[in-house]
Order: sequence, then C-alpha cells, then structure tokens
Amino acid sequence: MRLRTFESFWLVKNGILYSYPSLQEDLKTEILVIGGGITGALTSHALMESGYQVTLIDRRDIAMGSSSATTSMLQYEIDVPLYELSEMIGEESAATCYRAGVQAIFNLKQLVDSLQLDCGFEMKESLYLAHSKKASTWLRKEFKLREKHELGVKWLSASEVTARYGMISHGAILSEVAASVDAYKLAHELIQYNVKRGMTVYDQTEIDQIVTTTPQPSVLLSTGNTIQAEKIICCTGFESTKMLKEKVADLFYTYATVSEQGILVNEQVKRTIFWNTANPYLYMRTTDDGRFLIGGEDSAFNIPLFQQRIKERKSDILIKKLEKILPEIEFIEDFSWAGTFGTTKDGLPYIGASPEFDNMLFVLGFGGNGITFSVQGMELVVNMLQGKPHPLAKFYRFGR
Ligand SMILES: Cc1cc2nc3c(=O)[nH]c(=O)nc-3n(C[C@H](O)[C@H](O)[C@H](O)COP(=O)(O)OP(=O)(O)OC[C@H]3O[C@@H](n4cnc5c(N)ncnc54)[C@H](O)[C@@H]3O)c2cc1C
Repeated sequence: MRLRTFESFWLVKNGILYSYPSLQEDLKTEILVIGGGITGALTSHALMESGYQVTLIDRRDIAMGSSSATTSMLQYEIDVPLYELSEMIGEESAATCYRAGVQAIFNLKQLVDSLQLDCGFEMKESLYLAHSKKASTWLRKEFKLREKHELGVKWLSASEVTARYGMISHGAILSEVAASVDAYKLAHELIQYNVKRGMTVYDQTEIDQIVTTTPQPSVLLSTGNTIQAEKIICCTGFESTKMLKEKVADLFYTYATVSEQGILVNEQVKRTIFWNTANPYLYMRTTDDGRFLIGGEDSAFNIPLFQQRIKERKSDILIKKLEKILPEIEFIEDFSWAGTFGTTKDGLPYIGASPEFDNMLFVLGFGGNGITFSVQGMELVVNMLQGKPHPLAKFYRFGR
C-alpha cells in the first residue's frame, strides 16, 4: 500500500513554521491586512517599510492557503501571450505589463537578499516550449514581439532544445529572467521579520462581516469582536471571488506532483523553469532540495468524494506527459496534491479599489504568475494609500 498525503508538499516539507494567537478582543489599527499568504506577507512588508501600523489576520494558519500549494515559478511571462495582450490593451501597454514582471523578479531577489530570507530563492532562466508544430508558428510570432521589446529572449530550435535540456519540443523561447522560491517559507519568514519590528499578526481569526460604508471601515469577527482600521487591504487570494459581485476570475483545479530527492537531470535543466504551449499547459522545475516538480492538468471538474482518485490519476498523467518531453528522466513520485487556481480574462491581476467596497484595496495576483503580480502589488498599494499615481494601476483596475 502506498500512503500519500493530501497536503501540499511545502507544508509537509516545512511544517508550521510560526504560529500566532487568534484575536479574542476588540482592536484598532491603522491598516488591517486580511490574508496571510504570500500576497499578504509581501503587502504588509511594504506597508511596514512605509511606516504604517499594520495588523495582519488570517482565518487559517499563516500561508496555509494557495501559498502552501504553489509550484512557485516566478515568471515575467503572463498566461496571455504578449501578442494577444497587445491586441487587448495595445502593444506599448502590454509590453509595460511584461516588463513589470521582469522588474518584480529583480525586486523580490533584492528583498530576499537584503533580509537574508531563507526561502530557496534561485534566479533561473525560463523556457517556453512549443508542444506542437502548429504552436511553434504562433510562438515564433510571440518571440519576435518579445525580442522587439527587449525582454531578454532567444529562440531555440527543436534540436537546440534537445541538445541543451534533453527535451523534445517544436522549438522554444528562452527568457533570461525567471526564478523559483519556496513561497510558503518566504511568506512565513517575511511575516516573522515584520513581527519582530512591531507588526501584529493573528491567525485562526475568522471574519463574519466587513463594514466599509462608515468613514473608518471595520470587520466583525466570528468571536463577536471587531477590528477598526483606517484602511483595509484584502489579500484573500482566490476566496476573494466569493466577496465580489464583479467576475474577476475563472476558477479551476490544478494538479502538482513532486519526485523523490536526488533526481538526475542535467545542470541546464536545474537552472531553468519550463512551461509549454499545450492547453492546459504543463509547468515544471527542479526544487532546491533536488526534486523535480510538475504541474498542470487543470480542470474545472472536482467532486470531493473522488478527490483522492482524481489527484492520483492526474498525477499519473502528468508523469506520462513529462516522460514524453524528457524521456531520460526517472521520475519516482513522492507527493502529489491539487489546488484552486484562477485566471483573469487578460491574464492581469486585480490590484486597487473595487467600487463594491469603500476604504478597501485588493491585491489579487491571479494567474500563472500570481506571485510576481503580488510583488508588483507592494508598490501599487503604497502609492494608492499615499495618493500617488502608478503606471500599472490602470491595467490592473477593477471594472476594466
Ligand atoms: C498547484 C498550484 C501551482 C501554482 N503555481 C504557481 C507558480 O508556479 N507561480 C505563481 O506565481 N503562482 C502559482 N500559483 C498561484 C499562487 O499559488 C497564488 O498566486 C498565490 O499563492 C496567491 O497567494 P495569496 O497570498 O494571494 O493567496 P493565499 O495563499 O490563498 O492567501 C490568502 C489567505 O487569505 C486568507 N483568507 C481568505 N479569506 C479570508 C477571510 N475572510 N478572513 C481571513 N482570512 C482570509 C486565507 O486563509 C489565505 O491564507 C499556483 C497555484 C497552485 C494551486
């Protein structure tokens, strides 16, 4: 019998790194951040850096939401290709959003380095593989546009991909800027850093109601206690879709599988994160502890009763697909899991005020590069609070 965990790999690997009390009394704070995942961790850090008094709450333990399930590939590349995004919002605007992704990766590196956060952060390259001959036609068009906007790309032919990575494809875009990280650990370490300099954190603190119509917004907790704040910043991930009437994302399940340690792959593979043009796409990378991680097989179908069987079947499919792309690999599964995932109509996040709530800002980094968007949210939120414009605000606004 093979016993597998239902928990995501990062949680099992790291355990609960830091626990915080639940809130059992009324509280007043300058800024209330709701959500202690990677987005809440980054956002609250930016607010602390700017001198605000910050309280962060989460209904679960810290980073137990999507941030414990993510494969944490940090990409400037958006789920919607640059040429498609250009058709939607104009070429210069689309290129601005893509360039913001590159900058976000460097910003995160600088943050991790300067605070010496132990979170497995590694700068990598990214390889976007054409899974079919037909896909290689549009991928080449995509490459040309990215090249024009100086996004640090090279085209690799199918034979060059095989020679460098041992992978089978129909050509690929190689991007020089990407990274990977353990987002669960990063969220914990960053929150802990800010707790040490005065941020207040409560986990297992459930909200029943948010009141934003009064000049000072407040939340009513399930304990009957209230928190009053001057501003609320909502970093509540995919669950935010339940709070909003505006349809900001389509939600589905994505599946991930990680190998045992000591996987044999060449150095180029270790230095690169991969995804492909299939629909749904396959994404993969090595981990800092010597494993290979694959994700994909996204589907809207998920019946709780059959979750274990669906997860195992999806994991088998992911491994088979990997073996077709990387025939030399000997992948022995160690853990598999699934998580909710959401995409927006243009691949861009929702960061800013929703007309549905006063005195509240949202940082919703949806999509395949949600974490890179959350990094961008740090600067946007601080600017918005200080009434300063930000060049990305119009692209990430609600009601677009
Ligand atoms: C399998 C998988 C693979 C992925 N791969 C990648 C990838 O490679 N790269 C990438 O960038 N992204 C990836 N993602 C997406 C990424 O995980 C998310 O973008 C990211 O984790 C979102 O972080 P978050 O902090 O916004 O959300 P979460 O981590 O879910 O945090 C939100 C928090 O808010 C809390 N909360 C919600 N509502 C309330 C409430 N009412 N009161 C109190 N607390 C509340 C939740 O408990 C939760 O802890 C992947 C996701 C999955 C599932």
